[in-house]
Amino acid sequence: MRFPKRTVYCGEVRPTDVGRRVILNGWVARIRDLGGVIFLDIRDHTGICQALIRPAQQPEIARQARHLTVESVIWLEGIVQWRENPNPALPTGLVEIATEAFGLLNPSVPPPFPISDDVPLTEEVRLRYRYLDLRRPQMQRHLRLRHRVYQVIHRYFDQQGFVEIETPMLTRSTPEGARDFLVPSRLHPGRFYALPQSPQLFKQLLMVAGFDRYVQIVKCFRDEDLRADRQPEFTQVDVEMAFVERDDVLALTEGLFAQLWQELWDIELKLPFPRLTYAESMSLYGTDKPDLRYDLRIHTVTDLFADTAFTIFRTAYQQGHVIAGIRLEGGAAYSRRELEEIAESVRPFGLPGLVWIKYDTDGWHSPVAKHLSPSEYEGLRERFQLREGDLVLLVAAPWQTCYPALGALRQTLSRRAGLISSGSPEYCFLWVVDFPLLEYSAAEGRYVARHHPFTAPLEEDLPLLDIAPEKVRAQAYDLILNGEEIGGGSIRIHTAELQQKIFTLLGISPEQARQKFGFLLEALRYGAPPHGGIALGLDRIVMLMAGAESLRDVIAFPKTTSGLSLVDGAPAPVEPEQLAELGITLVTPDQTS
Ligand code: ASP
Repeated sequence: MRFPKRTVYCGEVRPTDVGRRVILNGWVARIRDLGGVIFLDIRDHTGICQALIRPAQQPEIARQARHLTVESVIWLEGIVQWRENPNPALPTGLVEIATEAFGLLNPSVPPPFPISDDVPLTEEVRLRYRYLDLRRPQMQRHLRLRHRVYQVIHRYFDQQGFVEIETPMLTRSTPEGARDFLVPSRLHPGRFYALPQSPQLFKQLLMVAGFDRYVQIVKCFRDEDLRADRQPEFTQVDVEMAFVERDDVLALTEGLFAQLWQELWDIELKLPFPRLTYAESMSLYGTDKPDLRYDLRIHTVTDLFADTAFTIFRTAYQQGHVIAGIRLEGGAAYSRRELEEIAESVRPFGLPGLVWIKYDTDGWHSPVAKHLSPSEYEGLRERFQLREGDLVLLVAAPWQTCYPALGALRQTLSRRAGLISSGSPEYCFLWVVDFPLLEYSAAEGRYVARHHPFTAPLEEDLPLLDIAPEKVRAQAYDLILNGEEIGGGSIRIHTAELQQKIFTLLGISPEQARQKFGFLLEALRYGAPPHGGIALGLDRIVMLMAGAESLRDVIAFPKTTSGLSLVDGAPAPVEPEQLAELGITLVTPDQTS
C-alpha cells in the first residue's frame, strides 16, 4: 500500500513548526464535529495532535471526515498553525494542523474501551484486547522503559567484559525447585524436555568451559500455583562469573543499578548498598526483604522482663521466647479502636494480639499498666528511645513467629502512618547475605536447599555440615529494593566432593544424583574454577522503576493469575492427531473445552 509517510510524530508538533507543511500517520483518537469546524485528534505513540477541517471551505474532506470512526488508521497532511483555543496542558496544545488532505488506511470497528489512561478497565478486558491496552500511553511508556533498561543492561555487561550466550529452552527436568513445565518428545516417545526454571547448570558449565563472565536476558519457566505477583514465564538477567568471591558479584551488580539509575534518570545511587545478614534482617525488620524507606526497627527487649510480674511476659521469658516490639513516633494519639485494628496484623501468625504501651505527657498508659514495674518502664524508655507521645507495640512469642509478626506489623504501621511518601519516589536498595543453606521441610521429611543445591556454604561453617546442618550459612545473597526481592544468587560449590556431600544431605541418593546431575558432577572434576553469580528479576525491576502495580503492567503479553493467556487463549486443547503423534493419551480429556 502506498501512502504519504509521516514527516513528524503526532506528539512532536511544536510552535516552531508553525507555517510548515507536515504529514502525520496515526490513529483517530477523537472526532469533534462542531458543525462549522471538525476537529480530529490524531494519536501515535508520542502523543496527540489536533487537526482542523473547515466544512464550508473543504466540503469533500469534511464529508469523508464525518465517516471516520475512532481508532481508524489515517494519514493526514496540512499546515501547522496556532490554535485559536490553546491547551497548555498538552505538549502540542498550542498548535494544530490545518488539514489539506487525509486518507483512510484502515477503518476500525468500535473499540471495546476508549484508548485512554483515565478509564478504569478490568484486567480481563485489558488482557483479552491486549493490543488495544498496549496502545494506551501508559503501557507504551512502560514497555519503552523496559526497552531502555534492556539497552543499558546489554551495554553495561558488554563494557564489563561479559559474553552473552544463549542456553537451551528444551532441557531436562531436575528434582529441585518449583514444578517444571514439560514438553513431550515426539522423536523419543515417553521422554520429556523441561522448560528451564533458570539456566543455572548451563551457566555453571560455561564457567567450567572458561567463559569467565556470562550474561543472558533469558525467559525462565516455573509451573507454580500462581499468586498475584508471579508469572509462569518471566525474564531474568542471568549472570555468572568465574574466579570471584561474593563481594565481586555484589559490586558488579551494584554497578549495573548505578548505571541504570544514572542513564535513565540522572540519579546517582549511593554505593555500596547497605548489607544485612539474614539474622539481622529478621531480628531488625521481621523479614528477609525489608523495606528500608521507613525505619520502624524492631527492638528485642526479652532481657527486661526476666523477673516481671506480668505473667504473659514472664511465661514467655521462661519458655525461651522472644519479647520484641516497635516504637511508633507520635503513636500515642491512636485510639483504642485503632490499636485493635492494628493488632489484627499479627493475628495471621497465630498470635492473640499485642501489648500496647503509650508514653504520653501524663505518663504511661496501657491495658497492662498495672503489671509493669517502674524499672521495666524505664528499660523500655531507654531501649526504644521513647519521647512523649510515642507508642510501643510489643509481642511475645517464639522467635520464628515473633519477628515475622512484627515484620507484618511494621508494614501496617507504615501504611497507616503514611511513612512512604507518594511524592518523589525513593529507592532503598539492600543486600541480605548469609542465608541459612538448608531448611528442614516437615512435609518432605528432609532438608531442602533454601536457595538451590549448588550454593556453597560459608567456609567457616563447613564443620557444621556434619553436626548441625541447619546452622550452616550459605554464600547466598538477595538484592532487595523497597521491600521487594529483585535478585538473588550465590557463590557455587565448585568441587565434585562437596557437591556430592550436599546432595546426600538433601536426601538425593548417589544414584539419583548421577542420573539427574551426573553431567554437573562430571564437569566439576575437569578443572571447575571458583565461580558464582546472580539472577535479577527483570520484570520486577521494570515494575518498580515504572511505578507500576503489577508485573502484568510491564510484560507485553502476560498470563492471568490463573495462568491463562487471554489474547490467544492458551493453554488450549490440541488435535487428537497431535497427541497421537506424541504417544500421549489423556486420562481425563476435558470435555468442556
Ligand atoms: N539460578 C538462580 C535463580 O534463578 C539464581 C542464581 O543463583 O544465580 O534463582
